[in-house]
Amino acid sequence: MYNFREEKRVIHQLNSNEKKQILLTFDDGPSKYLDRFLDVLANENVPAMFFWQSRLLHYKRPWQRVLTEGHKIGTHSHRHLNLVKLPFEQQMSELKKSKEIIERITGQEVKFFRPPFGQYNEDTLEAVSQLGMKLVMWNISSYDWNLKSEPEIITNNITEHIQDHSIILLHELEQTLTILPSVIKHLKEKGYHFTTI
Ligand SMILES: [Zn+2]
Repeated sequence: MYNFREEKRVIHQLNSNEKKQILLTFDDGPSKYLDRFLDVLANENVPAMFFWQSRLLHYKRPWQRVLTEGHKIGTHSHRHLNLVKLPFEQQMSELKKSKEIIERITGQEVKFFRPPFGQYNEDTLEAVSQLGMKLVMWNISSYDWNLKSEPEIITNNITEHIQDHSIILLHELEQTLTILPSVIKHLKEKGYHFTTI
């Protein structure tokens, strides 16, 4: 499944000469917790990337704050379907629609795509490339969606595996919001700097 050609089209980690750089990514928003996520990130002066389901994006969501405060918005498709189960044309329409909705509301070009469930195939890569985007995966999963009752394990999943240029998968969930300040603190103590792509 994994080949060199694909490797060049999919971002699994930051491509940077600078050491100690890492990226926080938040999928599945914009959620009702978005403002509070932005508060935490602003308090810590940390930029992040948000991959949004465009069906959840309304004008009233604080998308302007996201951009003003230095974060990036990418697409996580329109309806969060498993793309590998769809033919090329449907994958293309999910991605195109999503990109257009986010761009219409925010006025900013969407350059990055995070596939729902982390699932993609050759058709996905072709659609992403035709739309002028890059596909962004991760190399550290926090498993935050699975740890509502044990949020401290989310912290461990990140801090025990962190390395230079890591891209960390998180979600706009309540349990993630709870541990975010301590995760950022831990990572700063280890000397890491946060960036976006
Ligand atoms: Zn998702």
